[in-house]
Amino acid sequence: MSQLLSAIEKAETIAIGGHVRPDGDCVGSCMGLFGYLADHYPEKKVCVYLEEIPEAFDYLKIDEAMSEKADKYDLFIALDCGSIDRLGEAQEIFEKAVDTVCVDHHISNTNFAKENIVKANASSTCEILCELLPMDKIGTFSAIAFYTGIIHDTGVFKHSNTSKKTMETAGYLVEKGIPFGKIIDESFYMKTYRQLQIMGRCLLESIRVMDGRCIVSVVTKQMMDFYGAKSSDLDGIIDELRTTQGVEVAVLLTEKEPLEFKVSMRSNQIVDVSKIAVFFGGGGHVRAAGCTIKGSSYDVINNLTEHIEKQLNQGK
Ligand code: AMP
Ligand code: MN
Ligand code: MN
Repeated sequence: MSQLLSAIEKAETIAIGGHVRPDGDCVGSCMGLFGYLADHYPEKKVCVYLEEIPEAFDYLKIDEAMSEKADKYDLFIALDCGSIDRLGEAQEIFEKAVDTVCVDHHISNTNFAKENIVKANASSTCEILCELLPMDKIGTFSAIAFYTGIIHDTGVFKHSNTSKKTMETAGYLVEKGIPFGKIIDESFYMKTYRQLQIMGRCLLESIRVMDGRCIVSVVTKQMMDFYGAKSSDLDGIIDELRTTQGVEVAVLLTEKEPLEFKVSMRSNQIVDVSKIAVFFGGGGHVRAAGCTIKGSSYDVINNLTEHIEKQLNQGK
C-alpha cells in the first residue's frame, strides 16, 4: 500500500489543497482524489481547498467538495504544490493538520510536509496519483480529472516531461471510456473570444532579444482591465510564444501591482528555467517555471535575460 493510502486509511477528516491560481493538474489532482475518496471512503469527511476553479474545468467542479469545512483535520494532502506559501489561504489549515502528505512533481519542491512523495520526472501530479492509487479502483469522474491534469501539464503529450509511463497511464484512463477528445478540446484548446483577443495583443506586442532566441511579452493591468481578463485567460499564450521559430526561451510578464510582475518562463532544449525562477524566489520545472519580480518591466526583462544569456552561453 502506498504511503498516501496508508495515511488516508488512518484519517477520519481529510483536507485536500493545491496551489494558488489552480491549473489543470492542480484542479485535476485535487478533484480526482476527492472523487476517489468519495467512491471508496464515503464515511470520511473530506474537503477540498482551492481558489476559484477556471471555467475551462467546470466539469470537475463539485460544490459539496468545498462546502463542508472543518477547523482542523487529521490529514492534509497537498497536491501539485512546491512550497507551503503556494497553498495560499489553505496554508493555515495545513499547519493545523495532525498529519500532512505532499504529492508533487516540482523539481523545486521544498519537502514541506511530513511525508513528501515528490517525483520530478513525472509529467504531472495526476500521473503520480495514478501510480499511488489502485488503477482498477479509479472511477470515471476521477479518470476524467486525472486525464485533464496529464494533458494540461504535458501540453497534450508534447512537452519533454511526457514519458512512456505518461502515455501508459493515459492509456489506462482512456480504456475506462472517458471522452478524451472532448476533454482535450474543451479544456485545453477552446478559447473564449476574450482570450483570443488578449492572446493576439500579446503576440503582436512581443519583442525578441538575443538574436531571436528569447521572446518576451508584457501584459499590463490596463490591458487586463480593457479585455476584462482574469489571469487564467492568459493560459496558452506562453506556449504560442515558445513555439516561435528560433526561440529557446519564452517569457510572459503579467503586471500584478505597479512595479510588480508575475513571470512565466518556458524553454525548449537548453535553458533550465526552474533555476532562474528559484533564484528570484519562485520555482517550477526545468522547462516551465515562474516567479514574481519587483521593478519596471524593463528592469525585470534585463534581470531575466542576463540569467538566460549566461545559460545559453554555457550551452554553446
Ligand atoms: P506558470 O508559468 O504560472 O504556468 O508556471 C509554470 C510552473 O512554475 C508551474 O508548475 C508553477 O507551479 C510553477 N510556478 C509558477 N510561479 C511560481 C512561483 N511564484 N513559485 C513557485 N513555483 C511557481
Ligand atoms: Mn500546477
Ligand atoms: Mn503539475
